[in-house]
Amino acid sequence: MSTTRETAFTITPKTDAISAAERAALLANPGFGRVFSDHMAVVTYTEGKGWHTPEIMPRQPLMLDPAASVLHYAQEIFEGMKAYRAPNGDALLFRPEANARRFRKSAERMAMAQLPEELFLDAVNQLVKLDAGWIPDPEVGTLYLRPFMIATETALGVKPSAEYKFIVIACAAGDYFSKDAGPVTVWVEERTVRASRGGTGEAKCGGNYAASLTAQQEAKANGCHQVLFLDANERKWIEEMGGMNVMAVMEDGTLKTPPLGGTILPGITRDSLLTLARDKGMTIKEEPYAIEQLYADADSGRLRELFACGTAAVVTPIGTLKSAEGDHLISGQTGEVTASLRKTLCDIQFGRAEDPHGWMHRVG
Ligand SMILES: *Cc1c(COP(=O)(O)O)cnc(C)c1O
Repeated sequence: MSTTRETAFTITPKTDAISAAERAALLANPGFGRVFSDHMAVVTYTEGKGWHTPEIMPRQPLMLDPAASVLHYAQEIFEGMKAYRAPNGDALLFRPEANARRFRKSAERMAMAQLPEELFLDAVNQLVKLDAGWIPDPEVGTLYLRPFMIATETALGVKPSAEYKFIVIACAAGDYFSKDAGPVTVWVEERTVRASRGGTGEAKCGGNYAASLTAQQEAKANGCHQVLFLDANERKWIEEMGGMNVMAVMEDGTLKTPPLGGTILPGITRDSLLTLARDKGMTIKEEPYAIEQLYADADSGRLRELFACGTAAVVTPIGTLKSAEGDHLISGQTGEVTASLRKTLCDIQFGRAEDPHGWMHRVG
């Protein structure tokens, strides 16, 4: 377990914060993305000057010129991570340096200013330290952190912005995501694609999400919770969900997931689960999986379990795949391997188990 060095953030505490009792009431059943913490971290970038004015201030609306380039050309990237409450009360972060690294890579792809990883970690660490009271009890959930960067230059000319803001906000995330809510039904999207080779699929940018929303609407209209996207070239190979990676457990115990290759977001949960599965002695296959083969395997029983994984939803079992042609049932209940991987991961994240890979970081 490690702690971070601190840069000099100017801290302006919120003066009219709600009472502890009111906060406790909000945190008892926070849902997701509705109950926000008191503060936000903001760091500004100006070309020629670099990153400057690191601040933590009461959470408040942004002032943006209507010609700010993010509003027109979508130079925007983000991260998603969580602060967990350990049994001894400590606030814990899971592999935050992996988020910092991915954030830098996303910035590079979107021609945005690179934020030093140390500054990313400091901002997150100090915000969580100040707003630690907003981390729900472990039985309830976690504090979801949303670091993001926007292009703020007032300029309608198409070019990389010369000014950016890096901001971190936090919201409580309830147990919908951390507990087993049972298998979900997933729409296999055959019409639109999320990412193509040479595109922005491996960058965590808002634009990828905007492009995925019609498929999400279609999924909902067909009674599905989530979307599974296929590759852009052949519409043959499974890639990932709108915001989660996907893994299959085969009859022989192999854990199978599509390889990263530019069109799939390199999930930190994905990487961690592959490591934990290896620890458990499972065979890992990072190889392409054709949707028709997957249907055949589901129908024959060769495919035992299918699940989605990501920070927000942790590990979510997939019960049924649905497409225009019909349904394929995988399982009506959460599979054994799915449940075991989720438990192993969550026990490490909440500080309930040994941390053999040095993934956890104590805030403070
Ligand atoms: C964030 C994200 C994931 C999951 O990544 P984690 O690091 O595990 O949270 C998967 N796919 C997409 C498209 C994402 O944006």
